[in-house]
Amino acid sequence: MKYKRILLKLSGESLQGNSKTTNLDPEVLEQYVAEIKAVRDAGVEIAIVIGGGNIFRGGQADALGIERVQGDYMGMLATVINGMALQGAMERAGMYTRLMSGIKMEQVCEPFIRRRAIRHLEKGRVVIFGAGIGNPYFTTDSTASLRAIEIQADVVLKGTRVDGVYDKDPEKFENASRFSKLSFMEAYEKNLNIMDMTAFTLCMENKLPIIVFDMNKKGNLMSVVQGQEAGTLIS
Ligand code: UDP
Repeated sequence: MKYKRILLKLSGESLQGNSKTTNLDPEVLEQYVAEIKAVRDAGVEIAIVIGGGNIFRGGQADALGIERVQGDYMGMLATVINGMALQGAMERAGMYTRLMSGIKMEQVCEPFIRRRAIRHLEKGRVVIFGAGIGNPYFTTDSTASLRAIEIQADVVLKGTRVDGVYDKDPEKFENASRFSKLSFMEAYEKNLNIMDMTAFTLCMENKLPIIVFDMNKKGNLMSVVQGQEAGTLIS
């Protein structure tokens, strides 16, 4: 395995699959768990940051006449719901897990404590970080970068529904071409929108590589962790 400790970022939207009527698609959950379990069984330490966009994003607050900060907290709570769903599905598959939250909610999960998170990883537990970093005006991408640095992960793996970073949107342009590798500077200068600026800068300043890859393709997470070229590496 090329990477021994990874931080996997999954968007909330991805858990919805193609469903228009439900927030969580059981088939997607099952598939993600299988991918994660294979990598865990191979001895890799795994931390996961999960988004909340399938349930609520802070940016939606305004249209509801709700203050932005309130909306951001709603978004953070949404990530905890997704984290609980993923945790439940992983436990059903016989995995050991911990859900740690950036906002205290002791009845459902542990608070995030960096040293404890690292200890869980060392013991082979998959750690899910819910509730973002616990502050409004941030995203779960920033959470992924920050937590990855804190737990000294080797890489941030950003699971998406496309197989890497393209020069233009591959879902709109047939002639879009994919980068297999980029430097942080190239990605910045080309304005490639890999993560929001806060998240991206944190990785760049701390020399933490990012790999953008297709999480929906079977076996792809394993390929990426093995160091095969299965997405775009930004380093
Ligand atoms: N959020 C926040 N602080 C954080 C992380 C998330 O305020 O540290 C809020 C923010 O409103 C965001 C929402 O939680 O829109 C859901 O997260 P995100 O949009 O990043 O989820 P994703 O797009 O990955 O599903």
